[in-house]
Amino acid sequence: MSDPRPSPAPPPIVVSRHPAVLHKLAVLRDARTEPKVFREVVRELSWLLGYEALADARLRPLRVRTPLEETDAHELADRIGLVPILRAGLGMVEAMLELMPGAQVWHLGLFRDERTLRPIEYYNKLPDSATVDLCLILDPMLATGGSATAAIDVLKRWGAIRIKLICLIAAPEGVAAVSSAHPDVTIHCAGLDRALNDKGYILPGLGDAGDRQFGTGRRE
Ligand code: URA
Repeated sequence: MSDPRPSPAPPPIVVSRHPAVLHKLAVLRDARTEPKVFREVVRELSWLLGYEALADARLRPLRVRTPLEETDAHELADRIGLVPILRAGLGMVEAMLELMPGAQVWHLGLFRDERTLRPIEYYNKLPDSATVDLCLILDPMLATGGSATAAIDVLKRWGAIRIKLICLIAAPEGVAAVSSAHPDVTIHCAGLDRALNDKGYILPGLGDAGDRQFGTGRRE
């Protein structure tokens, strides 16, 4: 007899266990990794996480002719929107575009008001209504979840229905904030860390993902 109970909700977070992902994550965490290598590894990890996040993308059948004969094949049917959160999300875009060359890229600029700790939107050129079926928000660090939640709010007001958040490292606080405000949004990440410190940095984390990519951290 079939189980009458409703099937459980899909997990709000998918932490990659792939050995290549874990290996690259260690390189990013290492404080000695220079910006050039850091950027390369952000790119490589983004590709791998994007690949995993596309596992349930919709396909449409297609006929192609190989050099030998015609055969059944598939193409991506979902119109995909990449939404990098400025500025640290920029380093994730190129790899995602390699994986999904037809994707649209919609930048969102959000910063945290130091007084209220609320995210403030400073850049948004989204057109009036949604032009994509699946939005992938790109933000390397899911810390408090304030920016991610605000970005998802913006995208839902825009009309986006299917949204995923791709980050490199997530903190439990950020996962809780996003999944309580938006339980329909799956989070894909390479690592789920221990906690936030009192300045909102993820522990053990990798430091400031923007500074480490762009070489703007404090210099000796
Ligand atoms: N943003 C970062 O770049 N690093 C953190 O640890 C938290 C937020």
